[in-house]
Amino acid sequence: MAVEDGVPEGQNEGVAPEPRRCRALNQDGTPCRASPQWLGDSGLCLAHDPDREAERQHARTLGGLRTGARRRKGLNPSDLPPLRTPQDAKAWAARIATAVATGELSGQQGRVSLAAVKLWLEAHDAEEVAERLARVEAQVKGRRRVPQ
Ligand SMILES: [Zn+2]
Repeated sequence: MAVEDGVPEGQNEGVAPEPRRCRALNQDGTPCRASPQWLGDSGLCLAHDPDREAERQHARTLGGLRTGARRRKGLNPSDLPPLRTPQDAKAWAARIATAVATGELSGQQGRVSLAAVKLWLEAHDAEEVAERLARVEAQVKGRRRVPQ
């Protein structure tokens, strides 16, 4: 497969037919020339076809999802206190919010982590309420035993 006269195969315009390209112009007036895989029936690429807004929206959403899903290392265990008190949970929430805002964690990682902290808080509160109730019940029973 020798390349003669310095023209690589397939780029000899006299022989190979020009592949279909987007016929729109870019903002600077140069032809778009997006490759055929991006062209719709209109002969315009995804970016230039006014009828493909929904498709563009999907492409943007997909791009956002891919970016968001890109695996990030996450926080170091030393960044977070052991989760024992509601104050710890507050510190976790603040640390996670900062991490998401600065790109240290993805939105998805942040949502999952915050949901877990919320669940922990709810479980903690429920446990506390149960303990209080048990104490109150014990007090009430104690009083009843006192002869009047
Ligand atoms: Zn185009």
